[in-house]
Amino acid sequence: MITCTKCGGKNSDDTRFCARCGNKLQSSRKAGPDAPPPEEPLEPFAHQGLSPDLLRALKRMAEAWVYLLLLGTVAAGCAFYEVWWPLYPAVALLGLLIRLRRI
Ligand SMILES: [Zn+2]
Repeated sequence: MITCTKCGGKNSDDTRFCARCGNKLQSSRKAGPDAPPPEEPLEPFAHQGLSPDLLRALKRMAEAWVYLLLLGTVAAGCAFYEVWWPLYPAVALLGLLIRLRRI
């Protein structure tokens, strides 16, 4: 709600001119010294000392490690049973996953 500085009429926030007197209205955000300062954009990870970019990189790295571990498990299973054919689709699937996830 914006109160007109000229006539005191009440106007909704999105109007630019007073409905009663036609006076140009000021946005409630720059309403004067009483108005609270504009809020700073939130930085969700600032308190942990990690930038979102770094966190994203770490997540991506962890994901890559999970895939590698999976591949290792498959390879170990193949070595144990001495069958090697499951390794090929596993590698192909992993390559596809990595390409899709852009790791
Ligand atoms: Zn007015």
